Amino acid sequence: VGVLVDPVRRLDNFIRLWQEGYTGFVRAMELLEKQPDIVDEEGSMPLTGVKGRIKFDKVSFRYAENCREVLSNVSLSIKPGEFVALVGPSGVGKSTLCSLIPRFYDANQGSVSIDGHDVRTLTLASLRRAIGVVQQDLYLFSGTVAENLLYGRPVASMEEVLAAAKAANAHDFIMALPRGYDTDIGQRGVKLSGGQKQRITIARAFLKNPPILIFDEATSALDTESERAIQKALLGLAKDRTTIVIAHRLSTVRHADRILVLTEDGIVEEGSHDALMTANGVYARLQTVQASI
Ligand code: ATP
Repeated sequence: VGVLVDPVRRLDNFIRLWQEGYTGFVRAMELLEKQPDIVDEEGSMPLTGVKGRIKFDKVSFRYAENCREVLSNVSLSIKPGEFVALVGPSGVGKSTLCSLIPRFYDANQGSVSIDGHDVRTLTLASLRRAIGVVQQDLYLFSGTVAENLLYGRPVASMEEVLAAAKAANAHDFIMALPRGYDTDIGQRGVKLSGGQKQRITIARAFLKNPPILIFDEATSALDTESERAIQKALLGLAKDRTTIVIAHRLSTVRHADRILVLTEDGIVEEGSHDALMTANGVYARLQTVQASI
């Protein structure tokens, strides 16, 4: 009879239990995400009333002293609410560039700022609250679907969890899993497809509802239905917030307000897909080299 219990009611029970015990868990997850040497600077202030303007001012970065410089003197500016697609050859530093915004790493030279505040002057907690990161695998952990969703906002209500899953086109496939939202998706649990995993991380971002979104699009091939579902969810998620997508798909770059092309020489081109194709430069060449971008 246990498995016949209404999965939605089970979710409600689960959320109550979770909310009684989540604090230690969230702290553990935060520790896992943090680089040990990145801490609040003395006198740091919380980021409040976020508008979502992002600026890189002559940013240079290398992972370690004996490594090559991944970003050299990169400058860019993104307006509040803008939807920007970041494209470029593999390994050029697109993920690295995005990782400097939530301070997973700090620039060696230059500065990254949000609404005019250097990110190093902001408290890490407020900075990371303002930024949602969607990546296919990185942040899914062993546990149930509900646990993975609630990581977006542990105090969310059941209605909010369901609404987020629906907005991410994930609710239907979750309900079709053996135990619905209670299904274990850890190593010993059910195996989700790449597209399903991505929709769970999208649902989590809907729950978190951050003013700034960083979306690392899956490079792996998705079936057409998954791809459409994700595309639709991404466009919904990007609405009314600053969004940077590391884009690999033409369907995504076509929707972007602006495409930034990153190469080893920094941001070398920017504009719409049509404008960049007409310009017949790096972007146009990338398009012909790659089957999809
Ligand atoms: P892709 O499109 O293939 O995901 P990318 O443009 O996002 O690539 P990054 O992942 O930012 O590129 O990597 C840029 C460079 O930095 C690569 O040479 C990579 O090997 C290196 N790199 C990435 N992460 C680390 C790390 N944690 N430590 C050391 N080097 C790293």
